[in-house]
Amino acid sequence: MKSLLLSRFLVLLPWALLVIIMLDADSGRRAPPPAALLARRPHAQQPQQHEGAPRRREAEPQQPLLPIIYAITPTYSRPVQKAELTRLANTFRQVARLHWILVEDSAVRTELVSRFVAGLTAAGPPCTHLHVPTPPRYKRPGLPRATEQRNAGLAWIRQRHLHAPAPQPGVLFFADDDNTYSLELFQEMRTTRKVSVWPVGLVGGRRYERPIVEKGKVVGWYTGWRADRPFAIDMAGFAVSLQMILSNPKAVFKRRGSQPGMQESDFLKMITTVEELEPKASNCTKVLVWHTRTEKVNLANEPKYHLDTVKIEV
Ligand code: UDP
Ligand code: MN
Repeated sequence: MKSLLLSRFLVLLPWALLVIIMLDADSGRRAPPPAALLARRPHAQQPQQHEGAPRRREAEPQQPLLPIIYAITPTYSRPVQKAELTRLANTFRQVARLHWILVEDSAVRTELVSRFVAGLTAAGPPCTHLHVPTPPRYKRPGLPRATEQRNAGLAWIRQRHLHAPAPQPGVLFFADDDNTYSLELFQEMRTTRKVSVWPVGLVGGRRYERPIVEKGKVVGWYTGWRADRPFAIDMAGFAVSLQMILSNPKAVFKRRGSQPGMQESDFLKMITTVEELEPKASNCTKVLVWHTRTEKVNLANEPKYHLDTVKIEV
């Protein structure tokens, strides 16, 4: 009896071992080593993206029906730059489906802005970091600012959708780095079909400027400066649908022939008419964005040479 059991045991033993080995190999394949897991985690200490590679937020719930908002922000180096960008990021990260196109007025991506963009956490906002310098001859008081940077943002968006089978719903607006934006503004602009408009606070030497609306249509402009402009509106006062940007590929900001203060008008003239404008913010009776300007910072006591024992980015 004993020898019968022993012989059965010896026959089954190699098979049992084989099954154990196979199970082990299989589970090993399903559980990759910790290093591989780390590498697949989104933005695990990745240096920030380059053109065309927006960061993705894995935790963000997919809302495919919500039109994406592209915010184009020109920015340039100055003592308050990082503070301005921090304020802006804190606003934008609260807006769903917003893609920030940050365009540096610079021949290179600066270290400060690159670090800042890299430091935007998974909570966003997703950001594409571009750069283009303003030619020195245009860096004069009285000349329009940020023309090349806004155009670089437009070009990036057009390029991105060049081969898209059907245009996704989307909205674009120009978000200067020093303005103040309410979250309600984004809800308003998100439904832009062609071009939408709204009041802007603290601009044009007045408490506010606004499009004058009658029976749901824009019929004029309440402004302290050249109300005869075809679109007497600040850069912060309108949004354009992605569809309009794509179907008017020649609409860009012009240096030549564009007088200061006329850039908005010259741009909008190329894509729409006053009759077509869509008034937002309760028929243009609410201020949801302010053309704030940061005071030039006082650095009178800043030493000429570096005196501190550490080097600190501000
Ligand atoms: N800007 C820029 N390069 C410059 C000056 C300004 O990129 O040489 C950017 C600036 O960061 C802002 C936008 O252009 O986002 C508008 O500039 P600013 O706020 O100085 O103009 P204003 O308040 O007079 O409209
Ligand atoms: Mn400004």
